[in-house]
Amino acid sequence: MSNFSFPRPTDVAPRQVREVVEGACPSCGAGALMRYPVLSEGGWFMVVKCQDCLASVSRERWALLGHVRLQTDNIR
Ligand SMILES: [Zn+2]
Repeated sequence: MSNFSFPRPTDVAPRQVREVVEGACPSCGAGALMRYPVLSEGGWFMVVKCQDCLASVSRERWALLGHVRLQTDNIR
C-alpha cells in the first residue's frame, strides 16, 4: 500500500454511477444491461455489460484518463 497523494473521497459511500440501458442481453436474455466506465490494459472504456451474466454488449474508448478530463480530450 502506498500513501500516494490521492485525496480521500468526500462521499461516505463512493460508488460508480451506472446507467441503465434498455434492452435484453444478447447472451442470456436478461433485461439487466448497464453502461459504465471501466479501466483495462488499453485505458478507459465505456462498456455496456449484462449484470446477470457479465457479457459485454458494447465497448468503446472513453476519455484518456477516465474521470479526469484533459483539455486535449476535446480536440480529437
Ligand atoms: Zn446476460
